[in-house]
Formats: sequence, C-alpha cells, structure tokens
Amino acid sequence: MSDNLFETFAARMQVRGEATFIATRDGHGYTYRQALARSAQLAGALKALGVTPGDRVAVQVDKSPETILLYLACLRLGGIYLPLNTGYTAEEIRYFLGDAEPALFVCRPDDREVARRVADDTGCPQVATLGTRADGSLLEQAEQAAPLETVEPREADDLAAILYTSGTTGRSKGAMLTHRNLASNAASLVEAWRFSEVDRLIHALPIFHTHGLFVACNVVLMAGASLLFLPRFDVDTIIEELPRGTTMMGVPTFYTRLLQDARLTAELTANMRLFTSGSAPLTAETHQAFEQRTGHAILERYGMTETNMNTSNPYDGERIAGTVGMPLPGVEIRVTDRDTHQPLAQGEIGMLEVRGPNVFIGYWRMPEKTREELLEDGFFVTGDLAMVDERGYVHIVGRDKDLVISGGYNVYPKEVEQVIDELDGVVESAVIGVAHPDFGEGVTAVVVREPGAEIDEARVLASLTGRLAKYKQPKRVFFADSLPRNTMGKVQKNQLRQQYQDTYAAKTR
Ligand code: ATP
Ligand code: MG
Repeated sequence: MSDNLFETFAARMQVRGEATFIATRDGHGYTYRQALARSAQLAGALKALGVTPGDRVAVQVDKSPETILLYLACLRLGGIYLPLNTGYTAEEIRYFLGDAEPALFVCRPDDREVARRVADDTGCPQVATLGTRADGSLLEQAEQAAPLETVEPREADDLAAILYTSGTTGRSKGAMLTHRNLASNAASLVEAWRFSEVDRLIHALPIFHTHGLFVACNVVLMAGASLLFLPRFDVDTIIEELPRGTTMMGVPTFYTRLLQDARLTAELTANMRLFTSGSAPLTAETHQAFEQRTGHAILERYGMTETNMNTSNPYDGERIAGTVGMPLPGVEIRVTDRDTHQPLAQGEIGMLEVRGPNVFIGYWRMPEKTREELLEDGFFVTGDLAMVDERGYVHIVGRDKDLVISGGYNVYPKEVEQVIDELDGVVESAVIGVAHPDFGEGVTAVVVREPGAEIDEARVLASLTGRLAKYKQPKRVFFADSLPRNTMGKVQKNQLRQQYQDTYAAKTR
C-alpha cells in the first residue's frame, strides 16, 4: 500500500458498501460503493483529458456531491486538487490559473465560454464542466471513459492539494498540502471528536476551504460516516435537519443566526452529539447562549489553510468559552516573541507557532514567503497572536496584522471589542488601527447598533472610561449597519482599514 490518502479512504469505502456516503436533502446522493465506482470512472475521464499524476486540477464549481467525487477521483489518479472560491471573478481566475498552471480547469456549465478564454490566455490546456446534469460534462465523459480501477501510488510527502488561503490579510497564497498532512489531520480529528459509522454530519459549509473540504469530508470518509450536503447555510433547513443529524461543523455566524430562531431548543437538538465551531472567533456570549438553550457546549477548534487543524477543545473534558482548546495529538505549539521567535514565558501573549505532520510544506511558487513563515526548526509562524493559560488552553488574541500599535503601546483589538460589545445597544464591533499623525496608529471602533438604540460616539467613549486604559480607548467611533464578512464569517478588517484610512489625516484631533 502506498501513502496515497485515497487508499485509506478506499479501504473504508469498500467496507461501508451500501451505507450512504453523501446525500442532498432531495435524496440525491451516493452510497460508499457507488462513490468508489464513480471515482474510478471520473479518474478515467480525467486521464482521458490528459491529466497525469502530479498534475494540478483546478476546480471552480458549485457545491454538489459530484464535486467530492471529483476530489476523490483526483486523489486516486495521483493528481493535485486545487479548489477555487466560487465567488472569484474571471479576472481572479485568470490570476490563479496563471499562478497554478493546472493541466485541467473544471468549471460550472454556465461559465464554459469565459473559462475557455481564460484557459487559453493562461496556457491551461483543457477545460471541462461539472454540473449535476448529463450535459457533456465530466460526468457524461466518465460514463464513456475506461474506469481507472487502480490507485496511483504516492509518497507521504507528495502533494495532494494546493489550497489558496482566504486572503484576509493580503493576496491569497497557495498552500501546498501533502498526503501526510491530510491523512494525519483527518485521523487525529476522527479520534479527538469520536467520529464513527453512525455519524451523520450536517454540512452547510463551502467546499473550497480547508474547513468544509478537509475537516468535514476527510473526517467523514475516514470514519465511514455520512454527509448531509446542503448548498449553503439556511436557518430553516438546519432547523428541519437537526433531528436527523448527529454532528454539525460550523462557523460562529451559524450559531448566532440559529440562536435568533425560537425553534432552536434542547428537544430539537436531542439527537445531536457534537457542534463544532472554527474559522473565526466564537464569542463567549454565543457559546453560553447556545449551551443554555440546547444543553450543547459548542466545541471550538482552531486551524488554518496551511496547517489544517491545530488545536481543539476536549470532547470529554471542559470546553472553555473564548479558548480554542489544546493541541491535537502530534501537534506542537509555542508562543514566541514576534521578532526573535524566542519562546516566551507561559501566560504571555506572543506569536503562535505550530509544528507537526499537519503543517504544509510551503507556499506554491513563493519561496521567500515560505522561508519567512516556515522556520528552519519546522515551526510555522501562524500570524496569530495567542496566550496559553495555566491549564494549557490556547487563547487566540487576534491576528498579528490586526494588532494596533498606538503611541508605542500594543492594543489587542479583541480586548477592546469585548468591552464595547457589552455596552447596552451594541450588537457587535470591530476595532482597527488607522494611521494617526501623533500616535502612529489611532484606535478606531466600528460599531453595529441594535435597531433604535440611542447610543452614539460620545456615549460609547464615556462608557469606556474606567473600563479600559486610556491608550486602549478608541479615538473615534463610527457606526455601520453591519460588519463586512466573508463566507466563513471572518471580519474583513483590511476593508475597514481602507474605508476609514482618512479618519485622522486632516488634524481631526
Ligand atoms: P490569509 O492567510 O490569506 O490572510 P486567512 O488567514 O483568513 O487568510 P484561512 O487559512 O482560511 O485564511 O484562515 C485561518 C485563520 O482563521 C487563522 O489564522 C485564524 O486567524 C483564524 N481562525 C481560525 N479558527 C479560529 C478560531 N477558532 N478563533 C479565532 N480565529 C480563528
Ligand atoms: Mg492566514
């Protein structure tokens, strides 16, 4: 047996045979036996299109069970799966195809013409479509091609996927992930979260990020569990499905939105055994409200494109709100000085660094960036600031790039946001640093008010006096209808910084 992750999956798939692997709400889906057969057919079609082991297959298609079959086919063939955000425009796709140089670009049927042009311009030799209909798409070609029944041997360090980061702090980078990276992480998560054949995972995440693709699908495949595939998060659908699910992986906004619905009760969630949250910080308020309402303590975990999952709150032990738990088995962490990478004393805030079989091998075609972030001793510089408490729980304090340095003092936005969020009439807030002529950066708050709330800038500022040291208090407070978020619920602070960049430019204070 080689180290191709697909071999591990295939062994499980064979055993699970007639059990449901993946299904949509209208009953469309595949048993494990069917998925195995389909992956062989699709791998045959990829081969017929000229894809060979080690080639990249770029994929920008809508979420469907067939997309996961395509992912499996790509692994089986020894290809490198390269999913692209469905929100990317043709211009953005042009950049990614140019950067990744795939052997094949799989697109939505409606995008076929544009995709052909972009492929021509970037030298991508083949374009195919993936729809759910038999419309000349890969699915139809799969029925005609000779199935690839074998599994292409791969070494543990061979690439299985290139996954572009979310682009929250700058241009997306292609993280190169190996078979070892994916296999080790899926195995740890199955164990840590007790996944088994009886599980039915409610899947409402996009599948072009590590969360929806690797965390969710690899874990299900490895455990022989079952996926309920929903096109997107929708409160009504989730409420209907909760009684039939056992687990749900979500981002914080899933939970805040579910909590707004009175139908969410302990009774409704009685069949569920696990709710997880990640991709963005879950507030202690949401954690507590969800537990009060349903009896389930959401299990928060922390990971990223480059490393899969790093830490998780315990399945059996105490799940502490506001923390991301402890390192998963095999994962090492340390908190270091941002500049020297020297470890700090326990309890201090610094750069979080991670090492382990889950850590990627570098950024695609960015050797300098790779050298900066992947240190010689194997630790990866996450770019997140963290603190480890005396019980070993990791607290993510925020991103290094979001740290505000005002008058020489470090201001951690999360700390200021938490105090503002507690004020009457405030829904949520985002604190950013904006260039300031005297302080270097001026602490700036963008606040979302409850409808009809009477709170204004003066009141926010007045109520922070005595609750936050002077240097942490915002110099200006602005109000917005909502905070800009991406599909994973991450607040787009780059966008806010741009929007408010002129705040202090003309001697406002
Ligand atoms: P880019 O690297 O392109 O700027 P990104 O970091 O948002 O984008 P991802 O790899 O999708 O891209 O996201 C990983 C980041 O998400 C982590 O570095 C961390 O900042 C954040 N994150 C993930 N889980 C949590 C969590 N539970 N709590 C707080 N932050 C989290
Ligand atoms: Mg990142």
